[in-house]
Amino acid sequence: MLDKVVIANRGEIALRILRACHAMGIRTVAVHSTVDRNLKHVAMADESVCIGPAPSTDSYLNMASIIAAAEVTDAQAIHPGYGFLSENADFAERVEQSGFVFIGPRADTIRLMGDKVEAIRAMKSAGVPCVPGSGGPLGEDIVANTRIAREIGYPVIIKAAGGGGGRGMRVVHSEAALANAITTTKTEAKAAFGNGEVYMEKFLENPRHVEIQVLADGQGNAIHLGERDCSMQRRHQKVVEEAPAPGISAEQRAQIGKVCVEACIRIGYRGAGTFEFLYEDGRFYFIEMNTRIQVEHPVTEMVTGIDLVAEQLRIAAGHTLSIRQEDVVLEGHAIECRINAEDPETFIPSPGLIQHFHAPGGPGVRVDTHIYEGYRVPPNYDSMVGKLIVHAPDRATAIARMRVALSEMVVDGIRTNIPLQQRIMRDQGFQAGGQNIHYLEKRLAERKSKSIALG
Ligand code: ADP
Repeated sequence: MLDKVVIANRGEIALRILRACHAMGIRTVAVHSTVDRNLKHVAMADESVCIGPAPSTDSYLNMASIIAAAEVTDAQAIHPGYGFLSENADFAERVEQSGFVFIGPRADTIRLMGDKVEAIRAMKSAGVPCVPGSGGPLGEDIVANTRIAREIGYPVIIKAAGGGGGRGMRVVHSEAALANAITTTKTEAKAAFGNGEVYMEKFLENPRHVEIQVLADGQGNAIHLGERDCSMQRRHQKVVEEAPAPGISAEQRAQIGKVCVEACIRIGYRGAGTFEFLYEDGRFYFIEMNTRIQVEHPVTEMVTGIDLVAEQLRIAAGHTLSIRQEDVVLEGHAIECRINAEDPETFIPSPGLIQHFHAPGGPGVRVDTHIYEGYRVPPNYDSMVGKLIVHAPDRATAIARMRVALSEMVVDGIRTNIPLQQRIMRDQGFQAGGQNIHYLEKRLAERKSKSIALG
């Protein structure tokens, strides 16, 4: 096993990684920015190193500082968590070149999946169903591009090959708007991602977001752990996630899961990963692969009983997968609500001092958070301050448990989206299950127009 791991992240995921390490007898090194000295995992880590000032470009994105921290503490491996450097192929490469283990896939796999055009090409040839599209980057020839769009059929979406975080995309509804949309997306992509390559896909109008969790050891073995439904989104950001996805049959799960497992083996995938799909009219369409642990991994852990971070650590230590596909059994239903430090109506971030904090509890309730009474949420990072996860024998009971847990949870001193999550849990459409990715925004818009009408 590994004996010392640097946790190159902050907040709840850093704490989650620390817990997995300590449970396995692995020592930990917390690296943190100057404003993050008081993070819970920094106090709990065996060692800690300040890697720079508050702006993440100077700290959590500072590759040299993080690698230096591993050197001075004599650590063996670096866990990148999610966000920050987790999907940066250059970082993974530098970590390994410096003689450390990068807890994730090989750098070339990260690079392949980071280029969406290449990723789709690789997935298509591995037999993964993709969205009908250009199958490659768009050239300058507008006649050729118009022909591609006609073949796909409008509406189409122009996407940046190097895009991420829901940015670098443009929907085109008619031929008249096509040329302009391609030019603008290219210019924006070049400025934002340093890569002006764009491609075209059919724009699916009412899809759900359903993703498959995989684990692979890079030694020829891979398994899938079923799916998650993450269709409750606002501005392409997930708000609520659940497992299993409502309405997906065991046969569908086995079939799409097998396709993902085969693709993992084919590309020599190593570690935990997620195949993201849009799901419409009973069909899966691959959009991208995330080569890291995800925010919403706990819902999969709850229904499978498998500790995904522990598995990442075992794989990184060079072990072959100890879990076989037939050992993966889904039990019950799990839901996760992301808890954000933001105004529940305006979504404006709300950093500041937490004056009171009470965590909910009871059967099947899990709270993954780094906050505590007296902790100050800094304004410098993502507004997510925790995740509330529930597990129950069935979906209706899980929703009921989540309602109770949310009502028990107290975070005073800052504003949070807990009231929004309570409304979602009470919403009839959510309760029915299987809503598409536009549902939440539609409901929010209805509420806004109603309150304006009443006001
Ligand atoms: P990113 O890496 O920026 O997250 P994705 O390719 O995962 O980009 O797409 C992000 C979101 O954009 C999807 O979850 C979906 O809401 C929307 N989207 C992307 N491609 C399509 C498509 N072909 N049709 C409809 N919506 C799409």
